[in-house]
Amino acid sequence: MRAVTFQAPGVVRVEERPIPEPIEPDDAVVRIEATGVCGSDLHIYSGRVQIEPGFTIGHEYVGTVVSAGDGVTGVAVGDRVLGCFATACGECWFCRRGMFQRCEQSRTFGHGATLGALQGTQADYALVPHANLVLRKVPEGMADDVALFAGDVMGTGFHAVDASGMCPGDVAAVFGLGPVGLCAVQIARAAGAAHVFAIDTVPERLAIAASYGATALHATEQDVKAAVRGTTEGRGVDVAVDAVGDPRVLDTAIRITRACGVVQCVGVYAERAEVHMGLLWLKAIQLRGGQANVLGHVDRVLAMLSAGVLDPTALVTHHMNLDQAPEAYEIYAKREALKIVLTP
Ligand code: NAD
Ligand code: ZN
Ligand code: ZN
Repeated sequence: MRAVTFQAPGVVRVEERPIPEPIEPDDAVVRIEATGVCGSDLHIYSGRVQIEPGFTIGHEYVGTVVSAGDGVTGVAVGDRVLGCFATACGECWFCRRGMFQRCEQSRTFGHGATLGALQGTQADYALVPHANLVLRKVPEGMADDVALFAGDVMGTGFHAVDASGMCPGDVAAVFGLGPVGLCAVQIARAAGAAHVFAIDTVPERLAIAASYGATALHATEQDVKAAVRGTTEGRGVDVAVDAVGDPRVLDTAIRITRACGVVQCVGVYAERAEVHMGLLWLKAIQLRGGQANVLGHVDRVLAMLSAGVLDPTALVTHHMNLDQAPEAYEIYAKREALKIVLTP
């Protein structure tokens, strides 16, 4: 089968790999029919997140179950399924408390040995461990391009709102309007945020955020702090979401968040970053980070997608063949594409 592999910073290549087979009783193998390119893949592509050369990347996927171990009961061979970007055992201390993202045996697709050595989904087939927890049937009538968002991007937007404790009537700011930030904007609106400031530098992305009802602000050409102060009697936002993963964003987020507010980092950090602790401390701000608990959110996200409360359709700007992955990464890295869906 074909698989998109990381080779070196700036280089991905489609290579031949053996088709995986179920090993454990609760493993399934999925024939991939749509797989997304994510901002997290860009961290690997740029070399910021380091994985072994030759490792298969990708972690957003929709497809059909082609084989399954005896212990797989939630889905069956022939089912059209979507999956979450990470697996969990369902039994450890963290899983029993619903914190699947910190499962003691958690493995993230396509992130090398550091995150569990689980080959990625930008391939013709993928092995899915703990399939009962990780896979869901695609609801009748739901397009691949919509289902693809449930196990990662929309789940991460959901997490940004849920984990921050955002309440109806709150004022929120979302930094970074890639697919994750734009999904966070949609969910914040759906959750009843009174105002959502959406901040980026890419005009097309700002326009989509505005179409979702957000106040779009250009990060460098507009005065973000003044806009926030003007809407909140000088207090600042109740919740700021960092959907970039950049210390400069974190710094601005802390500055525009009100006292006792929350800064929620869903953007990935892989290194030391400086935080103005004095400001954080004085303002009694809570700073939270981590992988999204997509396994914990996927059913609610699917319900909202099915009902049409959330609709990520406008975020898919490109469909490309798996063989075109090198070109896909190139244009996504230049921010000329929003969500690229690779179809094997
Ligand atoms: P993306 O690369 O498509 O989007 C990032 C956006 O940030 C771009 O639109 C870019 O223009 C904008 N940006 C960059 N610097 C900025 C700045 N200083 N101010 C404002 N905007 C700025 O990525 P994505 O797919 O939307 O993902 C966003 C982040 O979320 C990435 O770091 C990704 O790795 C992470 N992520 C985390 C989880 C999780 O579980 N926590 C899940 C999925 C993605
Ligand atoms: Zn992702
Ligand atoms: Zn576990």
